[in-house]
Formats: sequence, C-alpha cells, structure tokens
Amino acid sequence: MNQDFPPHSEVCLLASKAWRALIGRISEYLMDEQRKKPKAVQDILTALADLKVGRFTEIAPVTDHDLSQVIDQFNEVIRVLQTQTEKVASERILLEEIIHSTPDWIFIKDLEHRYVKVNQGYASALHLKPSDFIGKTDLDLGFPEELVRGNAKKGITGFWPLDDQVTTSGKTLVLENDPAVIDGEVHIFHTIKAPVRNHKNEVYGVLGFARDITALISLQKNLDSERMKSVKNAKLASLGEMSAGIAHEINNPLAIIDGAVSLLPRFLNDPDKMNSKIKAIKRSCDRISAIVKGLKKFSRSGDSIELSRHDLASIVRESLVLIDSSSKRNSTPVTFDGMKDAAIFCNEVEIEQVLVNLMNNAIEAVKDCSDRWVKVSIVESDEYIRLFVMDSGKGISEEVRTRLFEPFFTTKKVGEGTGLGLSISRGILDEHSATISLLTDSPNTCFEIRFPKAEKLKNVA
Ligand code: ADP
Repeated sequence: MNQDFPPHSEVCLLASKAWRALIGRISEYLMDEQRKKPKAVQDILTALADLKVGRFTEIAPVTDHDLSQVIDQFNEVIRVLQTQTEKVASERILLEEIIHSTPDWIFIKDLEHRYVKVNQGYASALHLKPSDFIGKTDLDLGFPEELVRGNAKKGITGFWPLDDQVTTSGKTLVLENDPAVIDGEVHIFHTIKAPVRNHKNEVYGVLGFARDITALISLQKNLDSERMKSVKNAKLASLGEMSAGIAHEINNPLAIIDGAVSLLPRFLNDPDKMNSKIKAIKRSCDRISAIVKGLKKFSRSGDSIELSRHDLASIVRESLVLIDSSSKRNSTPVTFDGMKDAAIFCNEVEIEQVLVNLMNNAIEAVKDCSDRWVKVSIVESDEYIRLFVMDSGKGISEEVRTRLFEPFFTTKKVGEGTGLGLSISRGILDEHSATISLLTDSPNTCFEIRFPKAEKLKNVA
C-alpha cells in the first residue's frame, strides 16, 4: 500500500463522508426530477437508499479493508449512476422529441399565468421559438384581452379564469370549443387543462394540451351539407320512382269523378242517386287531395333538422298514402297495426322518407314471391318506440347483409336502385338518436327502428 496514504481507518471515514455527501447530492437532484416520475429515477432513488443505509455502513466499519476495494466500490456506484443517468437523459430526450414533434399545442404556465414550458407546435403557430415564451403571459404574447381575461357579455370565459379554475380545484378541464386567435383569425381548439404538481403534491401551474379543430369543424360542416344534398337527391330519386304510380293513382279517382259528373244530369230527379254520385265525387276528391298533400310534404325540403314532437303512427299512415300505388301495382298489401300515441321527437318529413324507403324496398323484395305482404307495426318498450317493417321475404343473405347500409350498395338493376336508401336512412336516424337494424332472428325479413321516447328526451332536455 502507498506510504503517503493516511491510516486506513481515516481513509474509510473520509470515504464514507464523501460517499454520503455524493449520494445526498444525487438524491436531492433526483428528488427534484422525481415529480416527472420516470421509473428510472425511482429505481435510482431506491438503489441509492439501499447504498446509504446498507452497503456502505457495512463497509465503513471494517477498518482493515483494502483501500482499492473501497475505490472499486465507488467506481461501481459511479458506473451504475452514470448508466442510470444516461437512461434518464435519453428518456427525457425522447419525451422532448415527442412533445415537440406534435402540431398540438402543449404548454405549462405557472400560477401567475407565466409560461414555464412550451412545445414547438405552439411556438411555430405564433411564429416564435419555445424559449421566447418563457416568463411571458398570454397578454405579453398578444392574445386579445377578452380572450385572456374573459368577457362575460360575449360568453367568453377567458384563458386565465379557466387556468385559475384548474389550479384552485386541482381538477382537469376539457374544453370542446376553445377559441384562440392566430394571425388575426379565430381558431377553435379542443383543449385539456390539467393541474401540474411538485413532489410535495402542491399545484404549481397548469398543463395544457390544445388541438386546433378549425379545419375539422369546417369539414364536418361540409359533410353535413353533403349529407343534406344526398338526402335531397335520394328523395328526388324516390319521387321519380313513385311518380308514375302516383299519376296512375290520381287518374283512378279522376276517372271516377269524370264518370260521376257525366251521369249527374240523369239523376236530377233522383235525389238518392244524385247524393250517392256526389259522395263518390267527394271521396275521390279527398283521395286525390290526400295523395297531393302527401307528395307535397314528401318533396318539402328537410333542410332544417329541427325536431318536434310527432305521433309516429300518423307519420306511418301518411307514408302509406305514398306507397299505396306501388303496393297495388305489385299486389302486395301493406298493413299497419298502429298504436294510438307513439310520440317521438323528429323531423317528420325525414322520417317519412325513411319509412317510404323501407316499405318500397320491402314491396320490391317480395315481388317475385307467391306470398306477398308487408306489415308495419309499432311497439312501445320502457326505453324506446320500436317500429318494425316486416315483409314476406325470408331474410337477407349474409353477403348482402354486411353491405346493406353502405352508400351506393344495391342489388337492383341499373336505373332501378340508387343504393342510397338505407345509408341515407341510417344518417337521418342518427340525427334523431335513433337506430336501424335488420333483425337476424326473424323468420321473415324485418327491419327495426328504435326511437328514443319523446318523454325521455324531454327529461334530458
Ligand atoms: P336501393 O333500394 O336503391 O338498392 P337501399 O340502400 O335502399 O338501396 O337498399 C340496398 C340493398 O339492400 C337493396 O338493393 C337490397 O339488396 C337490400 N334490401 C333492402 N331492403 C330489403 C328487403 N326488405 N329485403 C331484401 N333485401 C333488401
């Protein structure tokens, strides 16, 4: 052993002090890091705690221990620490990369609304560097005062009141429709604000994740307007399909009127016969007027999705007028076993469109069967008003079933089907919080629509 070294016991004591000091420092540093709670930091802290209480105290009192062994122990600890620190550092770099690579805005503000951390996505949106934000507030960054502090008259809560709400309540806030201004234009964000805490579990700021959904919202609007257009197109297509039958349907009562009118002069002196002819004319006029009324209503635009309370049974009855001609033409009786009052919240024009489509599909589906019928029924359950459109067909093959609601899927001949009926019906029903499905456990083909009961919706509202 080297002569210049102090006595062995002294070396161990010094080493012990140095080791404890070193471990103490590293622990302090890591405690600070621990609030981010990477598992690696936790592992190091546990390892250090073991070393502090266990390994070294075992070594220290052994006065005749060889100094080189103590140095080896030090080196080993340093090596472990280095590896762990490198691991923490690389995990941190990865985390930073993830945070900076997303176009979403990520930031941390302190309790005085000063930025502590900002990701690249946020900085780039404001044409700044992340470091430009540090220590600044939203007002320093040029956000309009009313967006920052709020404006009750305009219904704007404001960034800061919301931040304060998060930091004082300690609860996360989700803002579905959070406005911000970028380059003078208002953008809408989906924002999550969460409290950030230190290792003592004290809230020291707010962490924000904000996603710009302006483009998404305008896409949704376009989709809605496209949906409206396709609903109108499908309606026009059904009107086209129905028009020939309806013309025929109007012609019949017209012929009755014509015949009765030409016979009237003969019955001038026979009041009974005269009355009966007048009644026949009246019935035929009513029939024509019911058909025209139904057509007018059906062709009315369903632009507004305003829902109001309607009796589903009345809507079914009105739809029956419209498919009556096709029911007769195909010798397929369509019967309705209606309930007295089945109240739903709906746009009746749109629901009529769905029903006409289902009934026409059913009539078409059984036209080659020897036994032809279509039955519509309404059943009330606790939660729903259930409407069934059943036909004498024996169900739908698996292959067609899986594609039923796909837009443009049709098994009809070119020019006979658009393939839009069921997909549009589903879209319309979605807007009504209703569902449509094909029952698979029915011996006959049967579609079921479930409407939420009007009373239930009213309770929610
Ligand atoms: P389209 O009637 O123009 O074909 P739909 O979307 O209304 O468009 O219907 C898609 C397909 O679903 C139809 O072509 C048909 O194959 C099938 N389908 C719909 N209703 C019935 C039914 N009641 N019975 C058998 N198949 C049906």
